[in-house]
Amino acid sequence: MNLPARPAPNPTAASGQLPSRVVLASGNAGKLREFSALFAPLGMALIPQGQLGVPDAEEPYGTFLENALTKARHASRLTGLPAIADDSGLCVDALGGAPGVYSARYASMHGGEKSDAANNALLVRNLAGQANRRACYVALLVMVQSEQDPRPLVGEGVWWGEMVDMPRGDHGFGYDPYFYLPSQGQTAAELDPAEKNRLSHRAQALRQLLEKLRPDMA
Ligand code: IMP
Repeated sequence: MNLPARPAPNPTAASGQLPSRVVLASGNAGKLREFSALFAPLGMALIPQGQLGVPDAEEPYGTFLENALTKARHASRLTGLPAIADDSGLCVDALGGAPGVYSARYASMHGGEKSDAANNALLVRNLAGQANRRACYVALLVMVQSEQDPRPLVGEGVWWGEMVDMPRGDHGFGYDPYFYLPSQGQTAAELDPAEKNRLSHRAQALRQLLEKLRPDMA
C-alpha cells in the first residue's frame, strides 16, 4: 500500500522562532490597526498585503476557517513570505448566526451598499422587536509558512456581547458601536482600543495561535 508522504513539521513551530516578516492578508483598515497593535510586542514586522501589491482573495466559502486559510495561502503564494489571515464576523443568535461569514457584505447581499453604516442599519432593522440580543464576534486566524505549508497554525476567538439599537462610541470599526459588553458596561466602540485588543475575538485567536507558535509568549 502506498501511504501518503508524511507532512514535514511546521518549521517555525518546530524551531520556536518567529519569522521576522509576515504578510497580513487583509485590506481592512480597522483590522490592520488592531493587528499592528497586537503584533507590535512580538517583534515581527507585519506587512499589509496591499503594500506588496497583493489584491484581496475571493472568500467563497461558508466557514471562517476555509476563508481564512484561502486568504493566507493566497498572500503567501503571491509574496513568497509567511502569511497570516483572519476571517471574522458577527453571529447573532436571533438571526440564526447571521450575518456570520457574510458580515462584511451583509447589506450588499440584500440590495444595499457595502458599508459599515448600511450593515448596521440592516442589523438594527432585522432585530426590531427581538428580545434575544445575544451575539458573538468570531475570529479565525490562520498562519502559513508557505502556500504548501502542510501544517497551518490556527487560532479561534469568540467574544460574547449583546446587540443594541442605538450606536455608542467612536473607536473600533464595523459593528462595534452596536456591540454591547455587559461586563464592561460599554460597547466595543466605547472601549479604549488597548482594552479591545486585550478582550476581543481577534486577541483571543492570536493568543491561541501564539500558544502553538511560541508557548512562552502566549
Ligand atoms: P472579513 O474581512 O471577511 O473577515 O470581514 C469581517 C467583517 O466582520 C468586518 O468587515 C466587520 O463587518 C465584521 N467584524 C469582524 N471583526 C469585527 C470587529 O472587531 N468589530 C466590528 N466588526 C467586526
